[in-house]
Amino acid sequence: MTVKLRFAPSPTGKLHVGNARTALVNYLFCKSKNGEMLLRIDDTDQERSKPEYEKSIKEDLNWLGIFWEKTDRQSSRLKNYNDALQHLFDIGRAYRCYETQEELSLKRKAQLMSGNPPVYDRQGLSLVDNDHQKFQKEGRLPHWRFKLIHEEVSWIDMVRGNCTYDMKSLSDPVIMREDGRPIYTLASVVDDIDHNISHIIRGEDHVTNSAAQIQLFKALGGKVPELGHLSLLAGSEGEGLSKRLGSLNLGELKQEGFESITLSSLLAKIGTSDPIKAFINTDELIKDFDLSKFSRNTAKFDSNDLYIMNKKSIQFMEFKEAKSRLTEIGLDINEEFWRTISGNLNKLNEARIWWDVVYGEIDPIIDNSNLIEKAIEFFPENNLDNTSWGSWCKSISGNTDYKGRDLFISLRKAITGFEFGPELSNLLPLIGKDKILSRMSGKKS
Ligand code: GLU
Repeated sequence: MTVKLRFAPSPTGKLHVGNARTALVNYLFCKSKNGEMLLRIDDTDQERSKPEYEKSIKEDLNWLGIFWEKTDRQSSRLKNYNDALQHLFDIGRAYRCYETQEELSLKRKAQLMSGNPPVYDRQGLSLVDNDHQKFQKEGRLPHWRFKLIHEEVSWIDMVRGNCTYDMKSLSDPVIMREDGRPIYTLASVVDDIDHNISHIIRGEDHVTNSAAQIQLFKALGGKVPELGHLSLLAGSEGEGLSKRLGSLNLGELKQEGFESITLSSLLAKIGTSDPIKAFINTDELIKDFDLSKFSRNTAKFDSNDLYIMNKKSIQFMEFKEAKSRLTEIGLDINEEFWRTISGNLNKLNEARIWWDVVYGEIDPIIDNSNLIEKAIEFFPENNLDNTSWGSWCKSISGNTDYKGRDLFISLRKAITGFEFGPELSNLLPLIGKDKILSRMSGKKS
């Protein structure tokens, strides 16, 4: 079987972490089976769909390491949806209805008040030609519903296992609006059939849709793809992601300086039985991918994990990549500089801090002027190399009472302006003798 998956965003907003996770899981599953990926733009909502959202979604997907072989858009396939509707009508599975939203909501209220489930009463199904003509004369246009067969629909979900729905408990879904625009329920199935989609992986908010769509696939003569419904993301304390982390879109995380591999490593592992860890690149994530490890429990997205993992991702970063990325922010680094500082970065843009320490100006902190005076006295005569720090400290502690941590920290503060940072044995040769001596005499340099 040819493995073919699709990711189907609606371009009505920016890509949110929840959707990014769905996209990533589709992509990793697809590529772990050498499959083909389709990006389907679900843009039938003309008012809310915007080209700028489509552009930013595509950019964010690429940033996350997700690529696709083909793109399609629903707005270019309206004829296909109309043809499918006609077919459903011809076989007695689509029918016209005229209720307004207000009428439907009144019906639902009445059903609930009399203790019945708010399932559509199929009034449209009993309309005869005269009724249709009467409505049309009144200027009322029909919307269309798909007639469900009242049976049990079951499937083995790739994530949730056995799923069964009694279709009697569902309303016949609306599949076409009054104005001729298709509803997602129909359009998605028509597309999935035409593109020979083999597996559908999406959020568990689509489980009920899936039950109805299984009947639609069959009514339209298509093969039902394998289905997998991922649990939704929640924030670290179990609250819905939409509350506290609701504004979390990929663009913002990128702006905040997180590496895309950090985010994809996290999104590929939350909600699975595997531990969370930083991966080196997307290929490694693909090799490691296993959908059967995803559980039905809510997946916790803890932004603290991002901070911890980002440090690791930077340690994995090759010099070449770091160089090209840092050139973009005006830092022309060499390999020695990268080797010295990379272990101290939580985010790549923090390289600027150590750039200033090595090549720019800092405000030295002299917290013990006697100690610093002695340190200047014993400063190495020779050119600085990686052994200079060790021998310098040794001669200070051998000839004075200053030693250990207090000595190291005072020197570090004077030379770098910070209490912490990369190994001084590596920093000293990079900073150079003149700057070090000038800083130790308290000068901003
Ligand atoms: N556009 C739909 C959504 O974003 C696609 C759902 C699906 O994958 O079928 O919810």
